[in-house]
Amino acid sequence: MSLFITEECINCDVCEPECPNKAISQGPEIYEINPELCTECVGHYDEPQCQIVCPVACIDPNPNHVETDDQLLDKYKKIWGK
Ligand code: SF4
Ligand code: SF4
Repeated sequence: MSLFITEECINCDVCEPECPNKAISQGPEIYEINPELCTECVGHYDEPQCQIVCPVACIDPNPNHVETDDQLLDKYKKIWGK
């Protein structure tokens, strides 16, 4: 499933450059993850890079976007034309 950023986000900007799919951007109040672009880093890394770097651990699985690893890999292939 894709991930989402909770309201504990302190707008530190550390996660945005780490996302290989450019799924993270500054929203009106806090940073946001585009579920159409987040593959949970499947296709790029073994672990979600944004979760690793977030200093306040405010990035969680998005219960509204439950996806299997196969679906995440398909999303990765679609994004990157593979
Ligand atoms: S899990 Fe990976 S693809 Fe999803 S937002 Fe975080 S860094 Fe980007
Ligand atoms: S790393 Fe965490 S606290 Fe910093 S902008 Fe990203 S989600 Fe917010």
